[in-house]
Amino acid sequence: MPVLVMKFGGTSVANLDRIRRAAKRVGVEVAKGYDVIVIVSAMSGKTNELVGWVNETSPLYDAREYDAIVSSGENVTAGLMALTLQEMDVPARSWQGWQVPVKTTSAHASARIEDIPPENINAKFAEGMKVAVVAGFQGVSDEGRITTLGRGGSDTTAVAFAAAFGAERCDIYTDVDGVYTTDPRISDKARKLDKIAFEEMLELASLGAKVLQTRSVELAMRYKVKLRVLSSFEEQSDEAGTLVCDEEEVMENRPVSGIAYSRDEAKMTLVSVADRPGIAAAIFGPLSEAGVNVDMIIQNIAEDGRTDMTFSCPVDQVARAEKAMEDAKTAGDINYHDLIADKDVAKISAVGIGMRSQSGVAATMFKTLSDEGINIKVIATSEIKISVLIDRKYMELAVQALHDAFELEKAR
Ligand code: ADP
Ligand code: ASP
Ligand code: MG
Repeated sequence: MPVLVMKFGGTSVANLDRIRRAAKRVGVEVAKGYDVIVIVSAMSGKTNELVGWVNETSPLYDAREYDAIVSSGENVTAGLMALTLQEMDVPARSWQGWQVPVKTTSAHASARIEDIPPENINAKFAEGMKVAVVAGFQGVSDEGRITTLGRGGSDTTAVAFAAAFGAERCDIYTDVDGVYTTDPRISDKARKLDKIAFEEMLELASLGAKVLQTRSVELAMRYKVKLRVLSSFEEQSDEAGTLVCDEEEVMENRPVSGIAYSRDEAKMTLVSVADRPGIAAAIFGPLSEAGVNVDMIIQNIAEDGRTDMTFSCPVDQVARAEKAMEDAKTAGDINYHDLIADKDVAKISAVGIGMRSQSGVAATMFKTLSDEGINIKVIATSEIKISVLIDRKYMELAVQALHDAFELEKAR
């Protein structure tokens, strides 16, 4: 039997009614002759609640217990989805990550899937089970501990299953009907794209567009998974949603395909560090060991052998970063006069494979922001993206202005 993977995000399983609605869609695919692997998220809001409980109980928590707790939301929806399908006379059962097993690294809270042996589920398909409902976001480490894949990780579970089972397609059902030129919650001019290239989706995801987890796009690209994003609330058709595909399949020739934003960034500046060989390693080594995800970096021109070093990181990692730097200073590994944290910044990025061949994108971006009176604090570029750090209060204005400047309301 051909296999189909269908993933339902939090809002699509937010209550029993929506689970029933999702189950009906699964039933339609089963009737077409597919063996279906359904990946479910926790009910919307559930994972946030669980994370909140962890933080309240233990601010510098043991990540193994964090995973044991926050993975539980998916167990509930997996069981409920299986029961709902059974009520519809569709032979189904639920699987928690460890039962499959979804084998992962032991990097708790951000584990990577290493292997999904298909034998157990395939044996059940052979016995007549039509739907395997798998709890997304979770796996098991070599040590036998429950792991989670990072926020939004059910997308990655879905793509990994599609790769492991050679699925015909991986459909990601969510609360929007596809991938848009920017977050439709921020701009009502956002347009749905029929197709988007893997490379662009990868950049958009990693720069903040949370419609797909970055790792899921990476896996889809590597294993050539046919990946589609579509709404669980609208009528289904074969053309529905957005297909994430190879660059060659996207015919549009636009310099920019999308604008992404990341709200919760912080800009940290180490004032007056010695400008000597090894200083970057002495700063960023300890940050990395402390689990700080450093993004943009600028080192200023040195004067009298001293310089300022600026970097950005997620705002909830500022405390970790400060501690790592203070410890490195106490140990005599680095010396600085001050550490300034600006916690009110956001990152805005323009992404497009067309940038490789069309010039002037950066100039348009900087001019647009300047016309709005928005100051740019840090700039970073790569082959297909330009990112800037700005004051958070201008974030929505910047997204909308850039969306206009690149005429994205005309994209499709
Ligand atoms: P789910 O719970 O189904 O996984 P998410 O909340 O993780 O859903 O992702 C869907 C959300 O992603 C949308 O509601 C939308 O606000 C947001 N989003 C951000 N950028 C984009 C974009 N470019 N296109 C579509 N949605 C986007
Ligand atoms: N429930 C998890 C989260 O909210 C995983 C997911 O929904 O993809 O991050
Ligand atoms: Mg998600």
